[in-house]
Amino acid sequence: MTRKVAVVTGAARGIGLATTKLFLADGYAVAMIDRDADALHDAAGQLQDVHPVVCDVSHPDQVDAMAAEVAGAFDRVDALVNNAGVADFGPIQEHDFTRWRRVMETNLDGVFLMSQALVPHLRETRGAIVNIASISGLRASTLRVAYGTSKAAVIHLTKQQAAELGEWGIRANCVAPGPVDTKLALAVHSPEIRAAYHDAIPLNRYGSEQEIAEVIVFLCSGRASYVTGQTVASDGGFGSTGIGLP
Ligand code: NAD
Repeated sequence: MTRKVAVVTGAARGIGLATTKLFLADGYAVAMIDRDADALHDAAGQLQDVHPVVCDVSHPDQVDAMAAEVAGAFDRVDALVNNAGVADFGPIQEHDFTRWRRVMETNLDGVFLMSQALVPHLRETRGAIVNIASISGLRASTLRVAYGTSKAAVIHLTKQQAAELGEWGIRANCVAPGPVDTKLALAVHSPEIRAAYHDAIPLNRYGSEQEIAEVIVFLCSGRASYVTGQTVASDGGFGSTGIGLP
């Protein structure tokens, strides 16, 4: 049997890179997708059994070219992890349309486009999709009008995918991480937000990239063969309490 293949977006760093490494440890080959060419080639250059593809997931033409390149490099696709994401926090009245669209293009359009492009390959393997949302898509709080809305939409898109793709044996699930110390979080989490998360999370800490990757790879695996349409929060218990953010 040929080895399984995972396609991971936003794979150059953060949660996407940790997920790539965990797939490799499980024996998969990985197509690493990212728009940051330098970071992608730096990361891929340290790994074996990977194929880096520079692609902005919000551009349909680049996604089509990515799909063709992945099909040329590998004879199968078993898992798609739509992890690429951007964050932009700010008051609702200061969020102009450009900021709103910038978040939607990557966080929502990118998940739609990547999935449309790779479902034909996932049909052949009865594969799995995991979309990365956020606790901000499950609970509303201030400053997250675009980010939280984009992630709530990803949660629904996942249910839609599960409903429509199940007849081909494709499962679609969502992971909603709590705060993780990545470049994305460092850019938008002020000291006040960090302190508030610390107090509001029952485990009183940020998660690690590895802790999120474990849930992603589990949901792609045969161990989750009867799980589809679900959103799994890996958030230290944040979503299970009523404790709020200021
Ligand atoms: P990160 O900024 O460390 O990494 C994101 C990667 O995605 C980068 O390599 C970036 O170049 C790439 N990327 C961004 N836009 C892209 C695009 N349009 N096309 C291709 N690549 C693109 O971020 P992270 O914290 O690892 O986040 C990964 C995912 O987890 C995101 O969807 C994010 O919203 C989600 N998430 C993160 C946290 C957190 O606290 N870090 C919490 C909840 C959810």
